[in-house]
Amino acid sequence: MTWPFKWFGFWQEDEKYVNAPSVREFCQSEWWLDKNRPGVMDYLDQGATVWAVGSQKNVCHLCHAPLPPTLAICTDGEWVWNHHLIHYIKEHGVILPQSFYSHITLNQFKVTIPLVNDEYQALQSLDWSMFKNGSARLGIRQKASDEHYP
Ligand SMILES: [Zn+2]
Repeated sequence: MTWPFKWFGFWQEDEKYVNAPSVREFCQSEWWLDKNRPGVMDYLDQGATVWAVGSQKNVCHLCHAPLPPTLAICTDGEWVWNHHLIHYIKEHGVILPQSFYSHITLNQFKVTIPLVNDEYQALQSLDWSMFKNGSARLGIRQKASDEHYP
Protein backbone atom coordinates (compact mmCIF):
# COMPACT_ATOMS: atom_id res chain seq x y z
CA MET A 1 0.00 0.00 0.00
CA THR A 2 1.43 3.34 -1.02
CA TRP A 3 1.20 5.94 1.66
CA PRO A 4 1.90 9.48 0.40
CA PHE A 5 1.82 11.23 3.79
CA LYS A 6 4.23 11.84 6.63
CA TRP A 7 1.56 11.33 9.25
CA PHE A 8 -0.24 8.25 10.54
CA GLY A 9 -2.79 7.19 13.15
CA PHE A 10 -5.52 9.66 12.23
CA TRP A 11 -8.61 7.80 11.15
CA GLN A 12 -11.72 8.29 9.14
CA GLU A 13 -13.59 7.11 12.26
CA ASP A 14 -12.31 10.17 14.14
CA GLU A 15 -14.60 12.18 11.86
CA LYS A 16 -12.38 15.23 11.77
CA TYR A 17 -9.50 14.51 9.42
CA VAL A 18 -9.15 14.63 5.67
CA ASN A 19 -7.44 11.90 3.63
CA ALA A 20 -7.73 9.63 6.65
CA PRO A 21 -8.30 5.91 6.02
CA SER A 22 -10.43 3.56 8.06
CA VAL A 23 -8.47 1.95 10.86
CA ARG A 24 -9.99 -1.39 9.77
CA GLU A 25 -7.95 -1.32 6.57
CA PHE A 26 -4.78 -1.50 8.65
CA CYS A 27 -5.63 -4.42 10.94
CA GLN A 28 -3.21 -7.08 9.72
CA SER A 29 -1.60 -8.78 12.71
CA GLU A 30 0.39 -11.21 10.56
CA TRP A 31 2.30 -8.29 9.02
CA TRP A 32 4.06 -7.93 12.37
CA LEU A 33 5.34 -11.49 12.53
CA ASP A 34 8.75 -10.61 11.13
CA LYS A 35 8.88 -7.10 12.56
CA ASN A 36 9.75 -5.43 15.83
CA ARG A 37 6.37 -4.50 17.23
CA PRO A 38 7.55 -3.64 20.79
CA GLY A 39 10.29 -1.48 19.28
CA VAL A 40 7.75 0.42 17.22
CA MET A 41 5.45 0.96 20.19
CA ASP A 42 8.38 2.20 22.23
CA TYR A 43 9.41 4.54 19.42
CA LEU A 44 5.91 5.99 19.13
CA ASP A 45 5.93 6.62 22.86
CA GLN A 46 9.23 8.54 22.68
CA GLY A 47 8.05 11.23 20.27
CA ALA A 48 7.81 14.84 21.32
CA THR A 49 4.30 16.02 21.98
CA VAL A 50 3.46 18.79 19.58
CA TRP A 51 -0.03 19.34 20.67
CA ALA A 52 -2.21 17.83 23.35
CA VAL A 53 -5.84 18.55 23.80
CA GLY A 54 -8.66 17.03 25.81
CA SER A 55 -11.05 15.20 23.59
CA GLN A 56 -14.57 14.01 24.16
CA LYS A 57 -14.27 10.85 22.13
CA ASN A 58 -11.58 8.83 23.75
CA VAL A 59 -12.60 5.31 23.08
CA CYS A 60 -11.03 2.89 20.67
CA HIS A 61 -12.89 2.68 17.37
CA LEU A 62 -12.48 -1.10 17.36
CA CYS A 63 -12.96 -2.34 20.93
CA HIS A 64 -14.42 0.76 22.58
CA ALA A 65 -11.87 0.59 25.37
CA PRO A 66 -11.15 3.96 26.94
CA LEU A 67 -8.00 5.60 25.60
CA PRO A 68 -5.92 8.23 27.41
CA PRO A 69 -8.15 11.28 27.93
CA THR A 70 -5.85 13.49 25.92
CA LEU A 71 -5.40 13.51 22.20
CA ALA A 72 -1.66 13.89 21.85
CA ILE A 73 -0.04 14.54 18.52
CA CYS A 74 3.58 13.46 18.48
CA THR A 75 6.51 13.91 16.16
CA ASP A 76 10.11 12.82 15.68
CA GLY A 77 10.83 15.87 13.54
CA GLU A 78 9.78 14.15 10.33
CA TRP A 79 6.70 12.02 10.93
CA VAL A 80 3.59 12.97 12.87
CA TRP A 81 1.36 10.50 14.67
CA ASN A 82 -1.47 10.25 17.13
CA HIS A 83 -0.32 8.79 20.44
CA HIS A 84 -3.43 6.59 20.48
CA LEU A 85 -1.86 4.65 17.62
CA ILE A 86 0.05 2.62 20.22
CA HIS A 87 -3.19 1.07 21.44
CA TYR A 88 -4.21 0.09 17.92
CA ILE A 89 -0.88 -1.55 17.26
CA LYS A 90 -0.76 -3.37 20.57
CA GLU A 91 -4.34 -4.55 20.78
CA HIS A 92 -5.45 -4.81 17.18
CA GLY A 93 -2.35 -5.48 15.13
CA VAL A 94 -2.73 -2.26 13.20
CA ILE A 95 0.21 -1.99 10.83
CA LEU A 96 2.30 0.97 9.69
CA PRO A 97 2.87 2.19 6.16
CA GLN A 98 6.10 0.60 4.95
CA SER A 99 7.66 4.06 4.60
CA PHE A 100 7.01 4.80 8.28
CA TYR A 101 8.30 1.42 9.42
CA SER A 102 11.45 1.83 7.34
CA HIS A 103 11.98 5.28 8.83
CA ILE A 104 11.75 3.84 12.35
CA THR A 105 14.11 0.96 11.62
CA LEU A 106 16.61 3.38 10.06
CA ASN A 107 16.46 5.33 13.32
CA GLN A 108 17.11 2.06 15.16
CA PHE A 109 13.89 2.47 17.14
CA LYS A 110 15.19 5.54 18.90
CA VAL A 111 13.66 8.98 18.51
CA THR A 112 16.21 11.74 18.14
CA ILE A 113 14.55 15.10 17.79
CA PRO A 114 16.71 17.26 15.54
CA LEU A 115 17.93 20.51 17.02
CA VAL A 116 16.48 23.45 15.14
CA ASN A 117 16.81 27.20 15.45
CA ASP A 118 13.18 27.95 14.91
CA GLU A 119 11.01 25.29 16.46
CA TYR A 120 7.76 26.86 15.33
CA GLN A 121 8.89 26.93 11.73
CA ALA A 122 10.11 23.36 11.99
CA LEU A 123 6.69 22.27 13.22
CA GLN A 124 4.96 24.19 10.47
CA SER A 125 7.04 22.37 7.89
CA LEU A 126 5.74 18.96 8.95
CA ASP A 127 2.94 17.27 7.02
CA TRP A 128 -0.36 18.48 8.49
CA SER A 129 -2.45 17.52 5.49
CA MET A 130 -4.82 15.49 7.67
CA PHE A 131 -6.25 18.80 8.86
CA LYS A 132 -8.76 20.55 6.69
CA ASN A 133 -6.80 23.78 6.60
CA GLY A 134 -3.34 22.32 6.84
CA SER A 135 -1.04 23.80 9.42
CA ALA A 136 -3.27 26.82 9.96
CA ARG A 137 -5.67 24.54 11.72
CA LEU A 138 -3.00 23.27 14.03
CA GLY A 139 -2.93 26.18 16.41
CA ILE A 140 0.30 25.21 18.10
CA ARG A 141 0.06 26.52 21.61
CA GLN A 142 3.17 25.21 23.18
CA LYS A 143 6.59 24.27 22.10
CA ALA A 144 7.01 20.55 22.01
CA SER A 145 9.69 20.66 24.65
CA ASP A 146 7.35 22.31 27.16
CA GLU A 147 5.03 19.42 27.32
CA HIS A 148 5.36 15.76 28.06
CA TYR A 149 2.82 13.09 27.53
CA PRO A 150 2.30 11.12 30.74
ZN1 LIG B 1 -9.08 -1.11 20.97
